Amino acid sequence: MTSVFDRNLLPLIDRALADPGWLPAIPAPSRAVYAEERLEQCRLFNRRLLMVLTLVFDFYWVGEFVTAPEIVRFSGLLRFGLMTPAVILFLALDRQKRVGRRYGFWLLLLTLAPALISALVCLRTTSPGALLDIRATPLILLGTCLAVRMPPREFLVNTVTVPLLYIGSLFFCRVVPRNEVAALALIEVAIAVAAAGFNLQLEWRDRRMFLLNSADRIMRGLLEAANLGLTREALTDKLTGVANRRCFDDTLAVFWQDGAATRGAVGLIMADIDHFKRYNDYYGHQAGDDCLRLVAGRIAGLIREQDVLARYGGEEFAILLPGATPETVRGVAERVRAGVEALCIAHDGLTPPGIVTLSLGYACIAPHRGAVMRDLVALADGELYAAKRGGRNMAVCSQEGG
Ligand code: GH3
Ligand code: MG
Ligand code: MG
Repeated sequence: MTSVFDRNLLPLIDRALADPGWLPAIPAPSRAVYAEERLEQCRLFNRRLLMVLTLVFDFYWVGEFVTAPEIVRFSGLLRFGLMTPAVILFLALDRQKRVGRRYGFWLLLLTLAPALISALVCLRTTSPGALLDIRATPLILLGTCLAVRMPPREFLVNTVTVPLLYIGSLFFCRVVPRNEVAALALIEVAIAVAAAGFNLQLEWRDRRMFLLNSADRIMRGLLEAANLGLTREALTDKLTGVANRRCFDDTLAVFWQDGAATRGAVGLIMADIDHFKRYNDYYGHQAGDDCLRLVAGRIAGLIREQDVLARYGGEEFAILLPGATPETVRGVAERVRAGVEALCIAHDGLTPPGIVTLSLGYACIAPHRGAVMRDLVALADGELYAAKRGGRNMAVCSQEGG
């Protein structure tokens, strides 16, 4: 499945930005994310506004005592018995994030309520004084369609339904002169069209911002991945796939610092393939490379998870063991020696013919006891040469017990 951060989305995003038409197209895999982000924007924006608009709408009720006393009770009941408590409940539930995905639907109902109440009042009133309020009703459309932020579908329903309710009520209203109906209907329609245009503009801007942000996130993801790839490549030995010398130096420094901080010890095993020059001379360099890969793979499978195996150079490998005791280091060294021997890689360059073996020297030092990092390498290296002198295929440590 294509993810929102998939690089394949980049051409689609570019095309949508270059040729937006009425509205820039959001690529299919990003649509759900866009709708979610857009709904969250609506939520945050409407939180305070809805209450203010409701109070303004309720305030009009006071005027009805003078302009149309016969509908004060009816209108008051709808405003204060139904609509206002519903808005308060909706906002309270939304604050507790309990409205969920039906947010758009409930918002639509609440924004249709003032238009419905005004239409019912318009139908019931018999006072000519109510005419001023009825003429001012298109302002409701301004409030609900221009000020409140809604998802596109709900906005469309609202912008069509509110004028229909208003214009419908005008036809049956007993106080609106017939010759005014067309003019008021026209004003309402003009406001609806303006609101639609305004919202289209907002949607256009939202989509553009979303596409630009998506492209930015994808590009950043690609750069991070490329950086990670480069870093990994810079720290890996190409031939064997284990850590390289640079990685060994960096890791040793980190382990050494950790050891000093935690008063723990750092172990190091240096391992060198025996008579490898003769192996190359006998089988050729390509076979020699294969042998190096095989030995590296074997050693990697024998060390602990926290240990780091590196190709120190040529046919020499180093194993760093953080937080190790001398006994653990000895155990790993012996396991590695026996493991490579058990591979039984034929070495017919030897006289008499034999198999590929490793010589190992190891050491274990606690950094906080005053030693320096170079001491560890020098010590393990010295032991490696002792192993060579001692006859090869052995693991040596002169300072047994640490
Ligand atoms: P010793 O037992 O004393 O370690 O003898 P040795 O022959 O293994 O040691 P020496 O240092 O004389 O030779 C190391 C050989 O390792 C020489 C070189 O050709 C070979 N070598 C180093 N790097 C590579 C490599 O990347 N690929 C191959 N095929 N051979 C390598
Ligand atoms: Mg060697
Ligand atoms: Mg060597």
